[in-house]
Amino acid sequence: MKLLAPLLLVAAAALLQGCEREPVRTVVVPPRPPTGFGQAPQAEPTPRVAAPQVAAPEVAAPSAPASGSAPVAVRDVGDPDGARILATRELVVPVVGVAPTALADHYDDARGKRVHEAIDIMAPEGRPVVAVDDGRIAKLFTSRGGGLTVYHFDAQGQLAYYYAHLQSYAPGLAEGANVRRGQLIGYVGSTGNANPAAPHLHFAVFRLGPQKNWWQGDAVNPYPALSQAAPAPAQVVAAASR
Ligand SMILES: [Zn+2]
Repeated sequence: MKLLAPLLLVAAAALLQGCEREPVRTVVVPPRPPTGFGQAPQAEPTPRVAAPQVAAPEVAAPSAPASGSAPVAVRDVGDPDGARILATRELVVPVVGVAPTALADHYDDARGKRVHEAIDIMAPEGRPVVAVDDGRIAKLFTSRGGGLTVYHFDAQGQLAYYYAHLQSYAPGLAEGANVRRGQLIGYVGSTGNANPAAPHLHFAVFRLGPQKNWWQGDAVNPYPALSQAAPAPAQVVAAASR
């Protein structure tokens, strides 16, 4: 019995030690390709997306209140104007079968020498990917890093939604086609630099510039909006053809 107290102390100390490590990094990192994707798609189609936002995390955070009920702790909302616009949108999670609560904030994660500025939604290969919002398909683009990608402009022409590493596009999906929120646009894959062992949707948002070019914009953290979005409809609607 005399030994018990010291043993308990040791056990308690061990627990505390474990706790101490937690606050260092609260982000849970799911299995994901080490190659990280941020580099290529942004290096090729959107070279200017990455640079400006890196500098303004703390300023941005308070200016983008979450519109939903539960406030989400976010380290970096990205472009403040874009974040404000995104917060007014009612989105659906872009991958069928993934709960909004299952998402994690990967926006500030390092990807090589760049910041990720996107979130990765892990899902089995072939899982339907749907439009998060109403709008139109601005560009179907194949890049080295992003593989098969979709650039989807919102209906107001303010934001672009970017879907990457797709296995394939939805049949009939075409540039210029109007899409509705929840409409099928493609399937989860690992094209580009994604690890085939960890298929996922790389999803990014950026605020379009005055030219409305699909390759230009200021990155916005999709996580606050998506974490409060509705789940994608289980029954996906086929893409419009025009
Ligand atoms: Zn990614």
